[in-house]
Amino acid sequence: MKVYKFGGASVKDADAIRNIVNILNNDSENNVVVISALDKTTNKLEMLHKMYMSSDKNLNNKYNEIREFHFNIIDNLFDGCCSEVNLLIEEIFSNLKDKLSEEPNNNYDYEYDQIVSFGELLSTRIISSYLNKHKIKNLWVDIRNVIKTDDNYCQAEVDYDLSKGLAQQKLNFTGVNTYITQGFIASTTFGTTTTLGREGSDYTASVIASLIGAESVTIWKDVPGILNADPKKFNDTHVLSKISYKEAVELAYSGAKVIHPKTIKPLHNANINLYVKSFINPKVTGTIITHTDTMITSPVLIVKDNQILLSVSPKDISFVIDDRLNELISILDKYKIKANMIQSSAINFSVCIDTTYNVHDMINELSDMYNVKYNDNLILLTVRYYTDEILHRELSDKIIFMEQRTRSIARFVIR
Ligand code: ASP
Ligand code: MG
Repeated sequence: MKVYKFGGASVKDADAIRNIVNILNNDSENNVVVISALDKTTNKLEMLHKMYMSSDKNLNNKYNEIREFHFNIIDNLFDGCCSEVNLLIEEIFSNLKDKLSEEPNNNYDYEYDQIVSFGELLSTRIISSYLNKHKIKNLWVDIRNVIKTDDNYCQAEVDYDLSKGLAQQKLNFTGVNTYITQGFIASTTFGTTTTLGREGSDYTASVIASLIGAESVTIWKDVPGILNADPKKFNDTHVLSKISYKEAVELAYSGAKVIHPKTIKPLHNANINLYVKSFINPKVTGTIITHTDTMITSPVLIVKDNQILLSVSPKDISFVIDDRLNELISILDKYKIKANMIQSSAINFSVCIDTTYNVHDMINELSDMYNVKYNDNLILLTVRYYTDEILHRELSDKIIFMEQRTRSIARFVIR
């Protein structure tokens, strides 16, 4: 048993979907195929959700844009011949329309999950039908009946015990070789839809692999594997052919976009190998993430854009570490904002965070008890296994706002 994951870029249009047939045709094993929303559908659904919450009069236009995008792909893939897929997709859009005609409640995250989850329902229905038409017999599974979570909407936590029993029932390969299912989405024990965090389909793939005891997970990307730096930003990049789980977690957490940070732990714990391969050149080996002592020897550069550096100091000048650290961390936690890098002194706490929609609400709350200053539009640069030469090359024309170094890792908040 293997788990394959296809992200938005690998299903961005009709040709990309056709390419999946080639990849699956070369593999006769039992597979669970986890699929993200087509192309940038999740971003569009996020906008739709925002419009819904603010009763924006352009809501319908956005809905129509998403609808048209999907039906164009269906027309291209099925040549107008398959009424079954049309019916299935009509039904999903009509459910979305019904949702949009309801009055929103004031739980922003709950409503987010109810709307944004439609992307994966649509993509998997289309691809499952297309594969069936091309002799890759498969069963479409609603993963919300398998992966159960708490009700921490937008960042739901998986209940592994409950999900394991359900996976054994629903993904047991009796009379089925290939399951097609959704990444990113799940549901509570009461069946309310939840999501696992942006880019969470990788995580879904690894959760499923650990639930069914798969031998491996393969994430199909538009890059030839995990590289030592983003080829769009740096020259001279190369593929890291074999890396340890620990190294992969560090890379993902620092902002390497190839894999979602939560993906590794379930695989590490169940001894399941993770492959990152190119859907453009499926024969190329790519990267394997596994138990290994192989060390990376050359520098690895990771850039995280759109960062905010907050500088917070208690108005009553109480000590940060002794008295206030727990409180500060719990405020970040309350807004589901992740600390990408932290530094503190006696009465100052600086934290580098992503620019999320609710940052300013958090700053308002902090401002009651703290003096808060911030800089935005910053970059967090992480250089693992740095050399002086690399740091000089990368930093000479930058303003450094905060920095940290260990013997092997250097991190800079820069502009
Ligand atoms: N479609 C979701 C997103 O774009 C999940 C994923 O792609 O992994 O965030
Ligand atoms: Mg996506």
